[in-house]
Amino acid sequence: MPCPCCNSGDFDVIGSRERKVRKDTGQIERYIIRRLRCLTCRKIHHELPDFIIPYKRYAAGIIEEGIHPLEPLVLPVDESTLYRWRSWFNKLVEYWLAVCQSLLIQYTVMPPVNEMSSHSLPVHKRIGQWFGEGPGWLAKIVHPVANNHFWIHTRSACLSDSE
Ligand SMILES: [Zn+2]
Repeated sequence: MPCPCCNSGDFDVIGSRERKVRKDTGQIERYIIRRLRCLTCRKIHHELPDFIIPYKRYAAGIIEEGIHPLEPLVLPVDESTLYRWRSWFNKLVEYWLAVCQSLLIQYTVMPPVNEMSSHSLPVHKRIGQWFGEGPGWLAKIVHPVANNHFWIHTRSACLSDSE
């Protein structure tokens, strides 16, 4: 994967950190996330597997089911957790969509589609147009944001080069 900041392909591995992720079985699994420094622009990146959302303890698939259930909800989480996920999502989703749209234009990964910016559609429909309606949409929307250093976190330092 090239550097999202400068498109260079050369990294130094400068460390790693452990992440615990809660799966839908309720089990907690541990993962090692590598910290990489781009040799060209010196930005630090973290490898983020698809099922990891920055600063969330639950796997991406669980969180997206909680936010926008595809099936009747059977998740090992309580109502207050669901409420927090949904308000977190509602607060940030327009920002994520704006970041993704500008990245798409900047990198011309694919031509911008006019309907993408249509605010007349419900937000999950707009996400579906970009990233598909199937499982995995949450990671697809948040990873470009995090990988390009646009992640907003209210509690602690963001995933940035200042770490
Ligand atoms: Zn770079």
